[in-house]
Amino acid sequence: MKVPVLDTTKKTLAPTTPRRARLLLKSGKAAVFRRYPFTIILKRVIENPTIPDLKIKIDPGSKTTGVAVVNQQTGEVIFAAEIHHRGQAIKASLDSRRSLRRGRRQRKTRYRKPRSDNRARTEGSLPPSLESRVENVYSITRRLRRVYPLKSVAYELVRFDMQLMQNPKIEGIEYQQGELQGFELREYVLIKFNHTCVYAGPGSLCDQVLNIDHLIPRSRGGSNRAGNLVCACRKHNEEKNNLSLEEYSKLRGVDFSHVKAQAKAPLKDAAAVNATRWDLFNRLKSLDLPIETGSGGLTKFNRTKRELPKAHWIDAACVGERTPENIKIEDVQPLQIKATGHGSRQMCRTDKYGFPKAHRTRNTSFMGYETGDIVKANIPKGKFAGRHVGRVTIRQRPSFTLNGFDVHPKYLKRIHRSDGFAYSFGAKTAGRTRET
Ligand SMILES: [Zn+2]
Repeated sequence: MKVPVLDTTKKTLAPTTPRRARLLLKSGKAAVFRRYPFTIILKRVIENPTIPDLKIKIDPGSKTTGVAVVNQQTGEVIFAAEIHHRGQAIKASLDSRRSLRRGRRQRKTRYRKPRSDNRARTEGSLPPSLESRVENVYSITRRLRRVYPLKSVAYELVRFDMQLMQNPKIEGIEYQQGELQGFELREYVLIKFNHTCVYAGPGSLCDQVLNIDHLIPRSRGGSNRAGNLVCACRKHNEEKNNLSLEEYSKLRGVDFSHVKAQAKAPLKDAAAVNATRWDLFNRLKSLDLPIETGSGGLTKFNRTKRELPKAHWIDAACVGERTPENIKIEDVQPLQIKATGHGSRQMCRTDKYGFPKAHRTRNTSFMGYETGDIVKANIPKGKFAGRHVGRVTIRQRPSFTLNGFDVHPKYLKRIHRSDGFAYSFGAKTAGRTRET
């Protein structure tokens, strides 16, 4: 991990080590610019700084997106983060709003003609829960760009590479013939069968591990093409072994004839091409950085080849063809970024019957603090005496909630302004073992 550094004109410089950042802060040559990600600002101008080749790499996911900043020359992971999205929370609050509205309109009250329909969606817009995912990643990327001198972007655009799968001729010398294709195929089959065993049936429980099964076994001349492959759990895959589908049907006493049709049918484009990923890709283009795209199969191939463990941020570091040979993940502590939103605009809370409960005040801040601010508390006496750091929840009276207890704002100092995200740190990866 490296600490981003700005010069006094806020120009991005080469990130430095935490030790050096500490020394600069201690000697008064620099000040803390931002808390998350921890950034320092020098008190002088740096002319013609040397800038390393830094690449931001993004592995988008439905619940969690991995982000990594990698030094392309050394392979060092400079920064890592996992963004936890709030798609479900948004959907739940929209559902609740809708049900209250429906309830209200069902009531036997006066009849009002509907007003003009001003809720038309623009063509090609994403639903709010997906839109938030795109915005989360885009805004974090933009913020990182303000503090790291990023030169390019690598982005996992598709789960698997359709073209590569159909055309086994693989270019590029660093990949062994056919090997990468296998990763793409595996990803394809898993998605096509929705990560479930096709031989699941009454009277036989499935195993946790998923394998790729050949409908016509390899021993009987079955091919490696997508039409002959299905997703099966390890137990049923081993049970079927070198039986044909018909023989296996007889053995289990279950009709599996639909499996064959399912395997033959190509995956629909809609399932292969993900609208959210494309939307984010188009948004990333506006950063004006060169973008390299890769597939999920390639990411997995890169990670497996480098013998790296599975984590969202490590996957992100492995996105794209130009991944350095030696990805260094020692001493990395991924920043956990949880999307929290900016509070609600609902002015009137309702009880469970949909009747108004209490009106909210219009103020969202009190004594200069806002819910979501990260604060430092220095409490001199009492049960919670001592120093505390955390995310504060305000009330409209001088009593806020911090880490589960109440605190007066006079003991607080804000260290990071509420920005729609909550931050914490994940487990640190092991450091380099020192040679003796
Ligand atoms: Zn099974």
